[in-house]
Amino acid sequence: MSIRPWRDITRRQSRQIMVGNVPVGGDAPVTVQTMTNTLTTDVKGTIDQIRRCEEAGVDIIRVSCPDEESTVALKQIVRAARVPIVADIHFHYKRALEAADAGAACLRINPGNIGSAARVQEVVNAAKANGCAIRIGVNGGSLEKDLLEKYGEPCPEALVESALDHIKLLQDADFHEYKVAVKASDQFLAVAAYQQLAEVVDCPLHLGITEAGGLIAGTVKSAIGIGSLLWFGIGDTIRVSLSAEPEEEVRVGYEILKALGIRTRGVRVVSCPSCARQGFDVIRTVEKLEDRLKHISTPLSLSVLGCVVNGPGEARETDIGVTGGGNGKHMIYLSGVTDHTIDDDAMVDHVVKLVEAKAAEMEAAKAAAEVQAAE
Ligand code: SF4
Repeated sequence: MSIRPWRDITRRQSRQIMVGNVPVGGDAPVTVQTMTNTLTTDVKGTIDQIRRCEEAGVDIIRVSCPDEESTVALKQIVRAARVPIVADIHFHYKRALEAADAGAACLRINPGNIGSAARVQEVVNAAKANGCAIRIGVNGGSLEKDLLEKYGEPCPEALVESALDHIKLLQDADFHEYKVAVKASDQFLAVAAYQQLAEVVDCPLHLGITEAGGLIAGTVKSAIGIGSLLWFGIGDTIRVSLSAEPEEEVRVGYEILKALGIRTRGVRVVSCPSCARQGFDVIRTVEKLEDRLKHISTPLSLSVLGCVVNGPGEARETDIGVTGGGNGKHMIYLSGVTDHTIDDDAMVDHVVKLVEAKAAEMEAAKAAAEVQAAE
C-alpha cells in the first residue's frame, strides 16, 4: 500500500553511526533497544534474557557494568549475543576501558562524569581501538548541579546544555561516533528537550521516556512521548523503559513503530472490543492468538472481528481475517476475500496454521525475489 500524504513522516536527517553491525541514524531503520535486568555476573541468566529479547526482535541490548566482575562477564555475554551490546558504565572510566576491550559495541557513558580530559581521552582511545560507539545519556533526574542551580529545575534548556557539554568533550577528543539521549520521566520535558536538541546537533538521537511506569501506564506514556517525537520525524533508535520484562519493552517499542507505520514486524492484529453481537469470545481469542503468534517475525495482518458489522470491511484490508458468524461457524477471509467457514472449537488452531503458512509463503517469495535481484 502506498504512503498517503497525511500519513507521511519526514524524518530528520541525522548522521549515521554504527553500533556493532547495526547502523543508527541516517536512513537506517529506527532500531529497538532494551536493557537486561539480570545481574551481569549471572552470565547464563543474562544470555537467556538476551535470547528472549532477540526472539522479540531487539536490535541492540544494553547491559550494566557496575564493577569489574561485570566487565569480565561481559566478554562471554558479547560472544553469545546475536545483537550488539551496549555497556552501561555511568561513572567509572576504568569500566569503560574494560568493556571496550571485552567487545562492547557501544559505551553508555557521559564524558563529563568521569573526571579529567586525560580520562576522557583514554576512553575515546579505547573506543576507537575497539570500534565502539558512545552513547551520551542525559537524564532529567541526574542533571549536573551547576545546571540545576543555573536553571532552578530540570527544564529542556538544562537537558540540552548538559548534552552539548558532553558532546563538546567528545568532539575535543576528536570522537564523532556518538548518539545522544535527553530523557526525562516527564514526557512533556523529554519531548521539548529532544525537539530543541534536534535543532542544534546532527548526531543520531536515542529516544526514551525514562522510568515511564508499569506495562500499561508506561506503554501509554512512552507511546505519547516517543510516538510524538517520531511523528515529528525525530529519533533514530528507541528504548521503552517499563517496570516490566525487557522483552515486553521490545514488543511495545515495535508496537509504537508499527502504529506510526515506521517499521513492521510480526503480526499486526486488528480486533474489535467485542459486544453482545459477538459470535465468539473475541477477547480470549485475541489473547490466545497474540500469544501463539509471538514467534512470527514476518510482517502480516490479521483481523479478528466478532460479527459481520465491521468484520468484512476489516477483513478486506488484512492478509487473513476471521469474522464471527451464527451457529458456532465463523467466516475466514484470505487476502480480503471470503474463503471458507470454520467451527468455533477449531478456530484458534486453524488461524494459527493459516498465519504460519502465510508467513512461510511470504518469506519464500522474499527469498526468491532476493535471488532474482542478485542474478
Ligand atoms: S465487530 Fe461486531 S462484535 Fe465486534 S464490537 Fe463491532 S458489533 Fe460488536
